[in-house]
Amino acid sequence: MRLTPTAEEAAFRDEVRGFLADSLPAALSHRVKHGLSVSRDDLQAWQAVLQARGWLAPNWPEEHGGTGWGVMRRHIFDLECRLANAPQTHGFNFGMLGPAIVRFGSEAQKSYYLPRILRGEDWWCQGYSEPEAGSDLASLRTRAERDGDDYLVNGGKIWTSFAEQANRIFCLVRTDPDAKPQQGISFLLIDLDSPGIEIRPLLAMNGRRLWNQVIFDDVRVPVDNRLGEENRGWTVAKRLLGDERIMVSRVSENKRLLALLQEVAAAEPCAGGLLIDDGEFRRRIAGLERRLTALEMSSLRLLSQAEAGRPIGAEPSMLKLLGSQLVQAMDEALCAAVGYFTAPDNREYLFHGANEQPLGPAHAVALMSNYLHHRGFTIAGGSTEVQYNILAKQTLEL
Ligand SMILES: Cc1cc2nc3c(=O)[nH]c(=O)nc-3n(C[C@H](O)[C@H](O)[C@H](O)COP(=O)(O)OP(=O)(O)OC[C@H]3O[C@@H](n4cnc5c(N)ncnc54)[C@H](O)[C@@H]3O)c2cc1C
Repeated sequence: MRLTPTAEEAAFRDEVRGFLADSLPAALSHRVKHGLSVSRDDLQAWQAVLQARGWLAPNWPEEHGGTGWGVMRRHIFDLECRLANAPQTHGFNFGMLGPAIVRFGSEAQKSYYLPRILRGEDWWCQGYSEPEAGSDLASLRTRAERDGDDYLVNGGKIWTSFAEQANRIFCLVRTDPDAKPQQGISFLLIDLDSPGIEIRPLLAMNGRRLWNQVIFDDVRVPVDNRLGEENRGWTVAKRLLGDERIMVSRVSENKRLLALLQEVAAAEPCAGGLLIDDGEFRRRIAGLERRLTALEMSSLRLLSQAEAGRPIGAEPSMLKLLGSQLVQAMDEALCAAVGYFTAPDNREYLFHGANEQPLGPAHAVALMSNYLHHRGFTIAGGSTEVQYNILAKQTLEL
């Protein structure tokens, strides 16, 4: 296991830093740093800059327009982008669906969908969860029945992030109700403007439209839009999480939050001095830094393991758990640092660009909204309890 970058990795890191310093618009990084919403247009413009540099799809193979980087380079790139407050690219497009199409798509699907993703023409969302199928995803009930060259889809998805911005949805649907739960599922690529689809908003605790419900009523989907074999959708879905599982530790995001916390503590007054000089708060920051260092080392150990082609066990569950809990602890410290300036409700300003200036210092404006948003990090992608179950079974053999 290596904890320090090789000379080649250090040179790559410097190259990424140089690129970000030259190419990341200051106004955009200001929005990311202060937790203001980034519109799809702004994100698309940034993705076009990355695409021009050839760095838009770090985990795709070169022949499909990706970088072909190994996990270490991807880690360095992600870290530098987060520390520079670059917006994250649309994860469903680049982290999930793209690699799944590369692996399971027909030649026609690859040549149609992958360039559209790179050009920003398609914006995907993920239709997995249902009201009765979250942690136990294999119990999903949305039906797809063959009707000639189409499937007829009926049912509904819930907690669908970004459906209001997306033009397509990748969905797990049940194609064989008589098979064992995981064996009767297929993976469909569906146009969201197909007749029979209704998208209903769901608001999160911070007032933001974070999710949607997507209802399917006799929606026709061509059989050609199935990714992978019929009734083998579970394999596609598992692969789709594939090597993204090893990038789940949120080390980069936690480093960004720690830097913000140190900056905020150095600006906030406390007992005639500054918060950064308060012994108790310094200890709190040091405790978070210690947890982050342990997380980073564990994450690097896993990355080295993956790079060397060694099998990966339950470590991603541990990293997902610790990384998401650490984000929440960073949020709590940030809110504590700012105190009552977390109280004003700035949602208009944050999400819709109100023309009135919010109360309090700029670094305080989005803290409570982010705190509320990040509560979901210990649920999305597998809840804390589910990760504990995996660790108990695979690591402790309970
Ligand atoms: C921010 C956010 C974004 C999301 N985006 C998407 C998206 O884009 N697309 C999508 O398809 N889904 C999305 N989801 C949904 C997410 O995948 C589910 O919320 C998650 O899988 C949990 O399912 P559930 O909400 O149905 O909870 P449930 O599975 O009903 O769990 C309820 C509670 O019971 C606990 N529990 C469940 N099973 C066990 C068990 N076996 N042992 C012990 N405890 C258990 C859970 O930990 C939880 O505390 C998102 C969720 C969040 C929070």
